Amino acid sequence: MHRLESLPFTSHYASLGADFGARLDPDGYEDARLVAFNPDVARLIGLDPNQAERSEMALFCGGAWLPTSSQPFAQVYAGHQFGGWSWRLGDGRGLLLGELTGSDGRGYDLHLKGAGLTPWSRMGDGRAVLRSTLREFIGGEALAALGIPSTRSLAFAVSSQPVQRESVEPGAMLLRLARTHIRFGSFEYFTHNQMPEQRDRLLSHVLERHFPETVGLSLAEGAAHFFRHAVASTAQMIAGWQSVGFVHGVMNTDNMSILGESFDFGPYAFLDAYDPEACPNHSDPQGRYRFSNQPAVGFWNLKCLAAALLPTLAKDDAIAALEDYATLYQVAWETRFAARLGFRRPSELSTSLAQAWLSLLTQNRADFHFCFRRLSLSSSAPDPELQDQIADSVALESWWQDWRQALSASGDDDETLNSRLDAVNPLYLPRSWILQEAIDAASSGDFRPVRDLLHRSQNPYAEIPGAAVYSRPPAPSQACSELSCSS
Ligand code: AMP
Ligand code: MG
Repeated sequence: MHRLESLPFTSHYASLGADFGARLDPDGYEDARLVAFNPDVARLIGLDPNQAERSEMALFCGGAWLPTSSQPFAQVYAGHQFGGWSWRLGDGRGLLLGELTGSDGRGYDLHLKGAGLTPWSRMGDGRAVLRSTLREFIGGEALAALGIPSTRSLAFAVSSQPVQRESVEPGAMLLRLARTHIRFGSFEYFTHNQMPEQRDRLLSHVLERHFPETVGLSLAEGAAHFFRHAVASTAQMIAGWQSVGFVHGVMNTDNMSILGESFDFGPYAFLDAYDPEACPNHSDPQGRYRFSNQPAVGFWNLKCLAAALLPTLAKDDAIAALEDYATLYQVAWETRFAARLGFRRPSELSTSLAQAWLSLLTQNRADFHFCFRRLSLSSSAPDPELQDQIADSVALESWWQDWRQALSASGDDDETLNSRLDAVNPLYLPRSWILQEAIDAASSGDFRPVRDLLHRSQNPYAEIPGAAVYSRPPAPSQACSELSCSS
């Protein structure tokens, strides 16, 4: 296990050179205070979790102290934002600190978000605020615990330095871990700026670092392999989102990881009442990134990535991979929902039961997670709390009969079945009101609620004493409908 100063960063991406970004040191917060630290991520990157106790850890997270092996680098990229082309985005407030090899043998990037001005800051201040930093920190942990690939975080720190948004807010920095910080928009940048040679160098870099199985293949074959992986991992990631009621909020192509990890989820939300049209980002009045549209946007974004990889990626290979998207998505969706209803494997029957169940939840504006969790209490009749959520008792009873009858074919006793249901239907999710509660406390210097929320988000399935209130639907006064895109 490493001490902080001996973290062995490599700089493969930075060594691609000046066409790919800029070497730059963070503008650190000398008064940084650690709000939350994540021992799981520390262990994943081989860092001794006890290092959290050292003053250097807060300074590291605040960008005011760095291990000597880190060569911070702002990455250039472009992207389609809300469907429109932005030719030059880049890290306006983030720095890639370097790459590390995880204890799982895979490559990871560590990135500092909120680290100050860069050549790509445009009109921005290079900063991130406590509110959005806390939300990203917790959201990544929750997704990962639900089995959905996501960026995660080692820690985040807050400063007393004020940052102006709609109002003045505390500045913060996030130490973010991702398999990669290369986005769909990274490839788009080089292609649409007539830099095909650099685009192919980026592709070779990705293949070398993340697809060792392509050694010996031509670049065209490698491109086809990579793109097929991007299609499959994106389809599976989005099916994961749909199965846990996660709305990303800003699915621009610069916020899409080429390795299919949930990435840069800005004003995200986990649904309370099941509403397919939910769109938490108040900067998205047309609802482009609403919950029900996420699978289609994923496909649209993949077409942008394909276009950016042509002609190194052969057109036929691009089309063949894209044609698999709908099936890959559907299979992943059916598998996840079958499990949530207690079936060992998906079937036509489990899929039609899942669709009927979601219609029931929609029509009754019932709480998505609460209703799934109450299924394990519904062996002999629908649980009374389920009946409170779903006012249409006739429809509920009829669905319940069909569901129980289908499940009886498995031959499992109720106890086996109920523990299987409880193992996939979470009690604790960072609902918007719960995040707001932790933000309010942290803003006034009380970090305890964030740490408790981190614990619940990382352990969503088993009951935690004293935490019952966080497993229930929000009271009407707690419901949050829209979130600011500013961060
Ligand atoms: P995001 O919406 O966070 O995914 O960011 C979109 C683009 O805006 C990226 O190029 C960011 O680096 C940049 N950006 C966002 N916020 C700021 C900020 N406060 N200062 C500088 N650049 C920013
Ligand atoms: Mg972004």
